[in-house]
Amino acid sequence: MSASQPSVKIARRIFWAQLLVCLVPSCSSVSGGTPRKAKGWQASLGSVPNSKITPRQLTKSINVRRSYIPRGRYGRRKYRPMKPTYITIHSTQNYTGDAWAHAKALRRGALRGGTIGYLCWHFTVQEDVAVQHIPTSERGEHADFDGPGNRKSIAIEMCEHRGNSQARTLDRTAKLTASLMYHHKIPLSHVVPHYHWPRKGYSTPHKNCPHYLLENGRPGATWAWFRHRIGQHYKRIAV
Ligand SMILES: [Zn+2]
Repeated sequence: MSASQPSVKIARRIFWAQLLVCLVPSCSSVSGGTPRKAKGWQASLGSVPNSKITPRQLTKSINVRRSYIPRGRYGRRKYRPMKPTYITIHSTQNYTGDAWAHAKALRRGALRGGTIGYLCWHFTVQEDVAVQHIPTSERGEHADFDGPGNRKSIAIEMCEHRGNSQARTLDRTAKLTASLMYHHKIPLSHVVPHYHWPRKGYSTPHKNCPHYLLENGRPGATWAWFRHRIGQHYKRIAV
């Protein structure tokens, strides 16, 4: 037996393993095409229209409802002004609570953590509404403690409770993001998943969030699809 034979065998095994990987349904994300789940969302939502829309019309279509944390309490107990230059996308990983339940929890100081003892973020989106918890001119506690994710970004959480349409939640989030990009002059390159902001001192600094838009815990084809949809909504805006 020559020395090269085992490596040929190994190479063949790798070839078959790769082929097998490419036959499973998630292959399209591996090869760089549109992943199956994004195709499903696209099919249920349809394409974003090409027609122009005013910023006001876009805002109206998002259905933003304010339910602010009281000023001076809990996540707003310190006044911390912010000039946002990024938008951070999260998902709740809460399979029971809707956007209103998150609003209630934030208003009561029920979600502890972050650098001031309480979590807070700007919007929670579900299929039919975007609930706002703090003004976009104040910083939140949602990403990376005292890092730039918290200091410079508007945070959007997408709901995952049962019965909530993931496709419609994604589209409402994409519209809200486009509107925020317009009003705050934030480029699409500054729209990032929570994953983007490393958390100091963690063994896994890059959080797998929003998990259903990432591939193997990292931004890939599904995230690219979502960002493209945000860009399409943004392109519609005409003053
Ligand atoms: Zn997150």
